[in-house]
Order: sequence, then C-alpha cells, then structure tokens
Amino acid sequence: MPIINRIAEFAPELTEWRRDLHAHPELGFQEHRTSDVVAAKLEAMGIEVHRGMAGTGVIGTLKAGTGDRSIGLRADMDALPILERGEGERPHRSTNDGVMHACGHDGHTTMLLGAAKYLAENKNFDGTVHFIFQPAEEGLGGGDKMVQEGLFELFPCDTVWGMHNIPGIPVGHFAVAPGPMMAARDNFEITITGKGSHAAMPHQGIDPVVVGAHMVMALQTITSRNLNPRDALVLSVTQFHAGHAFNIVPDQIVLRGTCRVFDPVIQQSLPERIGRIMDGVSATFGATAELNYIKGYPATINDAEQAAVAAQVAERVAGAERVDRAPRPVMGAEDFSYMLNVRPGAYIWAGNGDTAGVHHPDYDFNDEALAHGASYWAQLVEDRLTRV
Ligand SMILES: [Zn+2]
Ligand SMILES: [Zn+2]
Repeated sequence: MPIINRIAEFAPELTEWRRDLHAHPELGFQEHRTSDVVAAKLEAMGIEVHRGMAGTGVIGTLKAGTGDRSIGLRADMDALPILERGEGERPHRSTNDGVMHACGHDGHTTMLLGAAKYLAENKNFDGTVHFIFQPAEEGLGGGDKMVQEGLFELFPCDTVWGMHNIPGIPVGHFAVAPGPMMAARDNFEITITGKGSHAAMPHQGIDPVVVGAHMVMALQTITSRNLNPRDALVLSVTQFHAGHAFNIVPDQIVLRGTCRVFDPVIQQSLPERIGRIMDGVSATFGATAELNYIKGYPATINDAEQAAVAAQVAERVAGAERVDRAPRPVMGAEDFSYMLNVRPGAYIWAGNGDTAGVHHPDYDFNDEALAHGASYWAQLVEDRLTRV
C-alpha cells in the first residue's frame, strides 16, 4: 500500500503549513508562534489540546472507540541559530534573520499535524493517540523536560515513536534498525595549570601548552587502545585555548571537546578514563589539571520489537524495497532518547532526497516527503490500535 490517498489529497495544504513554519523559525523554548499555530490547527481538527508543558510544548489527544490502548507520536518544533542562504530565491526563506529551520523540524511538525488531520477525520482506530509536539530538541533537552514534567503520567502511552528526516536517502524511503540509531553526547572541559615564564627561559616555568599537546594525543588512545575495536566512540578535542603572546609561556590553558558513544557502559567509564589520562600526563610534567565532564543526551536505542513494527508499517506505506532495516547508526545525538528510555518505541528515518545536509545554511525540508511521513504516522496508529 503506497501513501494514504486522503493524505496525498491534502498534501498541498501541508506544503503551505510547512512553508509558513519555515518562514517563521523560533529557537528552543521560544517556539511561541509555532506552538500557537500547532494548538490552533489541532483545535480546528476537534482534537483536545494541552499546552504549557516544558514551556512551549503542545500535546494533542485524540480518542476513538472504547479501548484503553494508547500511543505517543512525537515531533520537534525548534529551529537553529543559522543564517539561511538563498535570499530572493527561496520564497519561504526565514523572516527571522539568524534563525533557521535547518534540521527540518518544520517538516516534522507538519507531518504530525497531517497525521492528526487524517486520524481526526477517519477515526479508524480504537484507543488514544497523543500527538506530542516538543520544544528545544537542539541541545536544550526539551524532550527531557517534558518527561520530567510528567509527560507519560499525564498522557499515558503504551509506546512512543519518533521520526527524523535524513538527507541522502530518497524521498519515500525509510530506514530503521533495532538497537542504537543515534549516539549519546557528552562534553568535557580540561583546565591545565602550569607556571608561566618568559618564553626564552622555559626552564623557569611549567609549560601547560606542552602538557596540553601531550594530553590531546594521549586522549586518542581511549578509542584506539581501551575500546573493543567493534565498539564505537568518537572523542574529539575541538578547542585548545592557550596563550596570547609570542614570547610568554602562559600559566593556564583550557581544552574542550565532545564524546559520542552508543553503549551506556562505555559512556559511564569515560569521566574516569579521561581523568586518569589527564592526571597522569599533567603529573609527568609537574602541572595540575581539572576535569569538568558535562553529561548530555543519552543514546537513542530502538527496542527490537518496536523497531520491527516500525519497519513493517513503513513497508506498508512505502513498499519493502524502500525500507532499509539495517542502516548504520549515526554519531549525532537526539533528545527523543529521553522518551525512549522510559517507554518502549522506535525512532525512524524518513528520506529527504538529495538536499543539503541538516544544520547547513542551504538545507530545506523536502515538501515531497510530507505525505510519506504523515502516512507512516497514520498507518502506525491504525496498525497499533486496530479496531476490534
Ligand atoms: Zn538538528
Ligand atoms: Zn533535528
């Protein structure tokens, strides 16, 4: 079965909605207009609306029949601090300069609204659907905040589901795997204190730049020497802040970086391992160092059973040849992970075609994908909450 016909019929309307959201992007926790638009559309569909969770979050609740099964579908609403390119070329270009829907959350919001419209019209299911529109996916943890504010206590969901567009996969194609889809993301900051001196008399000081250089190299051995080669970890030192003059050895320098990992056990071990290298290397040179390890989003890990359900549903919408059941996971991070940590479910990728990559100033969500994504959502509900 291809795209749901009724959704294909109103695809031009979805394109208008998507482009309106694209033209009015808002940063995390500031999605006031977006949240108003989403709430108004849900209300117009006759869907019960709950607002104010995690600030700008919106939850729409739709019931049909008498069954007590329930499902949560989640979309994100926030944009990124990027100046969109294509002035004068793209009619729906951002009108909020310096803020841009460069990750396609305008498309995600629209696809979920499209599914809501179809399901409210047809009610061809038995149970309760919660349409979850979350704020602040990009780094600020809006998904985490919703879970903390009692999302699943107030809106009980047997399962919860997420979707993200992915450039480089054709429109109408889907990809979903059991196990990890996206990595956990932690950041770290190391402050190294030596002893400043005249650069011509280094023996009178302790040079923290040399200590830092050794430390950057030694940190690479966590991936190359401590990890099972079949496991995945990225550890990148991305900032090295040191000194201000040609002829002065500074007192103190700061290194910053990020870790990306799928396995929570490896993730847990990182502060200790980084700390041991940091202490050992600085002691070698008589310097001292301090670690500030900042835990971020957990890994997005699909429940095997629910990933198989997602793949089956995608196959019903797109055809088996358009569903990749074994995509390689990506080292980026996603805060839908907080929801998947407390409810079974799965996160699926939907092809965005041959567009610029996400977070790029040329990126645009592909409107051709709207009906495919909305059909996946609708089919998922009709399959999970089949009428008896
Ligand atoms: Zn993003
Ligand atoms: Zn995104």
